[in-house]
Amino acid sequence: MAFEGLANRLQNVFGKLRSKGKLTEEDVGEALREVRLALLEADVNFKVVKDFIAKVKEQAIGQDVLKSFTPGMVVIDIVNKELTALMGGTQSKLARSNRPPTVIMMAGLQGAGKTTTSGKLAKMLMKQNHRPLLVACDIYRPAAIKQLEVLGEQLKVPVFSLGDKVSPVEIAKAGLQHAKDNGNDYVILDTAGRLHIDENLMEELKNVREATSPDEILLVVDAMTGQDAVNVAESFHQQLELSGVVLTKLDGDTRGGAALSVKAVTGCPIKFVASGEKMDALEPFYPDRMASRILG
Ligand code: GDP
Repeated sequence: MAFEGLANRLQNVFGKLRSKGKLTEEDVGEALREVRLALLEADVNFKVVKDFIAKVKEQAIGQDVLKSFTPGMVVIDIVNKELTALMGGTQSKLARSNRPPTVIMMAGLQGAGKTTTSGKLAKMLMKQNHRPLLVACDIYRPAAIKQLEVLGEQLKVPVFSLGDKVSPVEIAKAGLQHAKDNGNDYVILDTAGRLHIDENLMEELKNVREATSPDEILLVVDAMTGQDAVNVAESFHQQLELSGVVLTKLDGDTRGGAALSVKAVTGCPIKFVASGEKMDALEPFYPDRMASRILG
């Protein structure tokens, strides 16, 4: 399971708390110190941890809580509520334009899972009776176009491509027109990634954005890279004004730092999480469910 390290530790702390009938202020303080350590070890951003613990403390160390019937449960409820809030509170849904097609621009560094996620998203939309079109705008990575075409064939989703000799902006514009002409109500632009964030990458993405006015700009980041993923999200958000983040490779992420920090650090919600290479391994992100999973 994703986040098992964090989940195990927190469940341990709260198990102890729950087993005590009465709680003193010291008991709660001790538990929160352990929560703090667990979050830091899970690679949650330092400032995020600090603010989080302060918020929980403010509510948990009061006579109302300590004198309640089941103080341990009350503290756990507070942590649950604050963890949910930390990850964005409510589910953040995919945009839908009232003048179709809805344009979704996918961005991210190479290897994060952008092309795979584009396919998964197309599959999810098809299941909801939409007619997505995948557009191959990554003209730099050898085999990226082919990879998308293979995915499209497998999923029975059309893929629009103009090869690798035409600029991504032209491909995106032509793809949009193709969708309009063919009744596709969603367009997913699979843009190029680089190994590192650089000006050329950002410039190109800005140009594609300008040319297509996307309804969604989704950044795909690898959850296993922890705070690096958060830093990448922050940089992309500053440059591109993202509408959401997709966290991939949650299946390999035992820590959970990215999931817990992205929203708080960038202000940008996590919209989807991916936990596997298969095409159905993509789910909408529900902060409350994730918090409950972590707390067991
Ligand atoms: P891109 O360069 O960002 O387009 O990345 P790709 O879509 O080509 O993905 C890079 C690698 O990550 C591929 O081997 C994918 O199968 C793998 N991958 C993508 N998403 C996930 C995921 O959620 N879990 C796991 N385990 N692997 C993934």
